[in-house]
Amino acid sequence: AALLEAIAIRKTYPGGTLANDGVDLSVQSGKVHAVVGENGAGKSTLMKILFGIEKPDAGELRLEGNAIAFANPREAIDAGIGMVFQHFSLVPSFTVYENVVLGSEPKSGIRFDREKAIAEVRALSERFRLNVDPLTPVEQLPVGQQQRVEILKALYRNARILILDEPTAVLAPQEVAELFVAVRSLVEQGRTVIFIAHKLPEVLEISDRITVMRGGRTVGEVETKSVTEQS
Ligand code: ADP
Ligand code: ADP
Repeated sequence: AALLEAIAIRKTYPGGTLANDGVDLSVQSGKVHAVVGENGAGKSTLMKILFGIEKPDAGELRLEGNAIAFANPREAIDAGIGMVFQHFSLVPSFTVYENVVLGSEPKSGIRFDREKAIAEVRALSERFRLNVDPLTPVEQLPVGQQQRVEILKALYRNARILILDEPTAVLAPQEVAELFVAVRSLVEQGRTVIFIAHKLPEVLEISDRITVMRGGRTVGEVETKSVTEQS
């Protein structure tokens, strides 16, 4: 069975734009699943629905076969979904580890253990080949490392599904190579990656499966080198 499914998702924005017009997506566990389409295809809307930022007008989400509906991103995070946006929400003057743990500190009464947090962030960075130093201020990092801090944040919150929203758009070629090392490490260790992109060539090398969106619909699927058109 699929890990995460979107079935016949429809979403019209208040202005009247039909952004998702019956979208189907079926993501297998431990794979890199790319969602590719031109600007306006409806990719971001679908991802916002998967992350609890937008609510669909119709259709269903299923996680491991069970119907789910996220009222907000907190519920999506609690269900094991992490999102890396194109625009990062890091605090520039804070260190990597401070950014990673921000918002996940223990409730009052339990003392925050700084050394433990640093060790945990360092271990995650090494395990998933993210190659970022926990003690460096984020403002000193190149954009590719800042993006991987966002991935660390999601992993620190136990994400098993990571949604990367057009991650290559802001990266230099060498940084894309570093991102791909991390993405491969993630799926090798059982995590699932949903990888949003504009064009097929960006994701051909990294993906196990590619869903193509156009005009608010899923119009095709590509698996490795075989192409099957839906309907
Ligand atoms: P993509 O991510 O593939 O570029 P989007 O999901 O962002 O596609 O957009 C799909 C359509 O919905 C576009 O026509 C876009 O202009 C519109 N849209 C996206 N977000 C909003 C919004 N918050 N309000 C109104 N229309 C929106
Ligand atoms: P509400 O519960 O009031 O609907 P949400 O938490 O769903 O609020 O989101 C409000 C807005 O904040 C959304 O439009 C979204 O763009 C933005 N947003 C929500 N969560 C995140 C996040 N984790 N990172 C960045 N932006 C977010």
